[in-house]
Amino acid sequence: MNRPFPHAEIGAAVAALQARLGERAVTSDAVRDHHARDESSHAARKPDIVVFPEATHEVAEIARIASAFQVPIVPFGAGSGLEGAAIPVFGGISLDTSRLDAILEIRADDMIARVQAGVRRQALNHHLRDTGLFFPVDPGADASIGGMVATGASGTNAVRFGVMRENVLGLTVVLVDGRVIRTGGLARKSSAGYDLTRLFVGSEGTLGIVTEVTLRLHPIPDAVSATAGFMTLYGAVAAVVDIKRAGIAIGRVELLDEATVAVIGRRSSLELDPLPTLFFEFHGDAAEVAVLSNTVSEIIAENGGTNLRWLREDAAARALWDARRLAPSWLKAERLGAVSRPSDVCVPVSSLADLVAETRADVAASPVPAYMFGHVGDGNFHCLFVYHPNDPAEEAEAARLGDRIVARALAAGGTATGEHGVGLGKRRWLEREHGSEAVAVMQALKFTLDPLGLLNPGKVLPEPTTLAWPDQLASSF
Ligand SMILES: Cc1cc2nc3c(=O)[nH]c(=O)nc-3n(C[C@H](O)[C@H](O)[C@H](O)COP(=O)(O)OP(=O)(O)OC[C@H]3O[C@@H](n4cnc5c(N)ncnc54)[C@H](O)[C@@H]3O)c2cc1C
Repeated sequence: MNRPFPHAEIGAAVAALQARLGERAVTSDAVRDHHARDESSHAARKPDIVVFPEATHEVAEIARIASAFQVPIVPFGAGSGLEGAAIPVFGGISLDTSRLDAILEIRADDMIARVQAGVRRQALNHHLRDTGLFFPVDPGADASIGGMVATGASGTNAVRFGVMRENVLGLTVVLVDGRVIRTGGLARKSSAGYDLTRLFVGSEGTLGIVTEVTLRLHPIPDAVSATAGFMTLYGAVAAVVDIKRAGIAIGRVELLDEATVAVIGRRSSLELDPLPTLFFEFHGDAAEVAVLSNTVSEIIAENGGTNLRWLREDAAARALWDARRLAPSWLKAERLGAVSRPSDVCVPVSSLADLVAETRADVAASPVPAYMFGHVGDGNFHCLFVYHPNDPAEEAEAARLGDRIVARALAAGGTATGEHGVGLGKRRWLEREHGSEAVAVMQALKFTLDPLGLLNPGKVLPEPTTLAWPDQLASSF
């Protein structure tokens, strides 16, 4: 991984950045160390310098300096990514967006917000609190909006409000040579030309640096939460498929296996039976929820579930969704000194029950603890392996099981990553998922926008020589 950029003049670039940005160009060990990692278990690598721009024109100047001295440049939002995408694996410049934190405009009548890329999701919703509107995409972590654009984030609300791709109307993007382009606009729809906005959504800092984002907002819905336990994981997933087919508008629906529920039960005040469980949020007023709850209860019973347990108090509902948000860190904390690696596949929802059941069988036969949960309404589920990083056998086992999940998902027409992005961890699956010709088109786009490969090198696209589809897996599904 440590192929240096042969013509990089790091020293000259550092000097130029310090001359331009003063104390906002930092080479201290502590700051570089903070930007060496994200929330994944991928190996850390320090950048040579961290810069903190405050405006689009400053990002453009940084990009011009990086290009002039042929130094890699890696955007860094909140560092909450789970696939190593913000790790500067070849060193160079880490461009921290935390000072690009202005909320530029709220157009309440149009239900639109314009923000700088470093604005955090929670800060935006706090700012919106008196408008009756909110920005719904919620990846659990308090991520930056730019990072969420770059990873194509989603989360618990996506089943109702869509993912980042559906909620970004336009972008300001700095290209590697310092040109600034604007994509999209304020209109809800447009047929004007190629859709550059969606090209940059999910590009993980490899095509340009996002500095401003125009977002769709939504009215805050009336919501009521509930849980239901099931005899089997399969039954829980099958119930969600039936509920969706019945046309019932669910605000959120999250699946948690019995092992995850047991940990939540120990670490929260929630009353949960130790069963595979669905967390629901229904939207509508009391009368509407009463009507749909009858149908939902019938479907749950048909699939081996228990009665809906309602959480009608705000505090109880908050505790439920806080527990869902905190579950990944609680699960990791179950083993002292362990790290965690989540799978992130997404499949057509009709294939999900089989995929979950097959994964359950794999996990049951493995010595590595694993927990299954996910945004089941979208067909997206995570299996979190909790292993000791100093135990190569455990790490290899987690990797093996993770590969089997991805291979199964691709065989079902799904994707290796529903929301966490490709980063370092999923690169070798890209060709298998999209085909070599499609990946070649991606490589051509990358070359057009970043001919020297300076923007977040080593991420998303496989090197042509390192494409590796594990043949033994290919033949077993
Ligand atoms: C406990 C936990 C739960 C999570 N649950 C979810 C979930 O449910 N759904 C989900 O989608 N994600 C989830 N995540 C992952 C993570 O929060 C998202 O991937 C998030 O979108 C990353 O945003 P960030 O600001 O932290 O980006 P970073 O991690 O800093 O960066 C991620 C990528 O974006 C690039 N980038 C950052 N800013 C910019 C910019 N301005 N321009 C161009 N590129 C940029 C980086 O170079 C990198 O490639 C979870 C993470 C944690 C820790």
